[in-house]
Amino acid sequence: DEDREILEVAQAGPDGITYSPALPVLAIVGRPNVGKSALVNRILGRREAVVEDVPGVTRDRVAYKAEWMGRRFTLVDTGGWEPDARGINASVAAQAEVAVDLADAVLFVVDVNVGATATDEHVVRMLRASRKPVMLVANKADDAIRDPEAAVLWSLGLGEPWPVSALHGRGVADLLDHVMSVLPEVSTVAKQEIGGPRRVAILGRPNVGKSSLLNKSAGEERVVVNELAGTTRDPVDEQIELGGKVWTFVDTAGIRKRVHLQQGADFYASLRTSAALEKAEVAVVVIDVTEPISVQDLRIIDLVLESGRALVMAYNKWDLLDDDRRRYLEREIEQDLAHIAWAPRVNISARTGRHLEKLVPALELALASWDTRIPTGKFNALIAELVGEHPHPVRGGRQPRILFGTQASTRPPTFVLFTTAFLDPGYRRFITRRLREVYGFEGTPIVVNMRVRE
Ligand code: GDP
Repeated sequence: DEDREILEVAQAGPDGITYSPALPVLAIVGRPNVGKSALVNRILGRREAVVEDVPGVTRDRVAYKAEWMGRRFTLVDTGGWEPDARGINASVAAQAEVAVDLADAVLFVVDVNVGATATDEHVVRMLRASRKPVMLVANKADDAIRDPEAAVLWSLGLGEPWPVSALHGRGVADLLDHVMSVLPEVSTVAKQEIGGPRRVAILGRPNVGKSSLLNKSAGEERVVVNELAGTTRDPVDEQIELGGKVWTFVDTAGIRKRVHLQQGADFYASLRTSAALEKAEVAVVVIDVTEPISVQDLRIIDLVLESGRALVMAYNKWDLLDDDRRRYLEREIEQDLAHIAWAPRVNISARTGRHLEKLVPALELALASWDTRIPTGKFNALIAELVGEHPHPVRGGRQPRILFGTQASTRPPTFVLFTTAFLDPGYRRFITRRLREVYGFEGTPIVVNMRVRE
């Protein structure tokens, strides 16, 4: 079945486009040794597991393609983590928390012979707070003699315990039937997994040269007409070959068609920008260098940052730039656009074609950053190093500590720090700055979130 699917994808077309709605995500959490791996193998039918590159799943959390009664879903196993030097509690709970955030439903596995432990209490509180469907799995209930012990777990407040034996299969079918009844058809949390060409939005004020850029770099005759069956495709999007690769430029109708609006033009322009960003992975913000950088330009950049999409800055009409204006422009960029100094920059002329070939490498760089994943071990080593070189200032006689950190997701890279107290905004900026120094992240926003442990 899986082989056939891969074949179909391979035959989908030269650009291998496959639009599939994100599969629902089922996460398995629990302490080490409760039998999570056995349960994973049981659910997968002991087939060779296919490790899938699901957005948001780092190496610490492994995702598998799973299926039950003809329904496909993504199974995320949090079994792989190593007990952290700073205490197993912090690491287990932190990984579980991230996995739960990114799941549509959760299997919380407990060893029926051990019951709930102090570590479990912590996870149980988090699970209750998550408001996600949680199935409490009392594993190692190899025969009915164990069922009364499973019943004791009602006290955890997670609803009915499901006695199962992952090893022998007892109870697993009933459990999975129930899981299917609570799992949505389409994930409400997983980002859309879309293969095929990467999606670009060209944004900017009217008359900065968006359509000129589109036309000049693509050339009308090079527009790729793509009519694959089973792909949801918006007629306003165009497939365009650039730098030997096919790209999807989203909402190009909005660029090509001149829309004159009497009132509320700004409002509609920002709606269109938001809609384009929604569909795009990377935005090219076009600036007209002959005019001062305006509030409108800054608003468009803000929308990109809010959307979490990758960003490339294109300074257009370079052919019209004189030395005076050029000096002034550089000063403006330094002052007004310091917060996006990480965005790759191309100085182009849509009219003459100057440096248009630099657009593709800039897009590729930004997207690579957007997709970057830092393994948890490396990330924590860096955090330890930063804290060593520059500890958080003492606040009210206490020093906030960072217990553990992990990258929760990519697109854009999003980190979670588990701390003993809120970190000063300045300290968070320090961490973000150092992350950029070490890893670059050119072209992508990065997000650092905090979770305070009581
Ligand atoms: P859009 O509204 O952002 O799509 O802007 P257009 O592509 O329609 O361009 C607006 C005007 O600027 C047109 O008159 C273009 O010919 C002109 N223009 C666009 N790019 C350049 C450029 O690189 N150099 C010069 N000199 N003019 C340009």
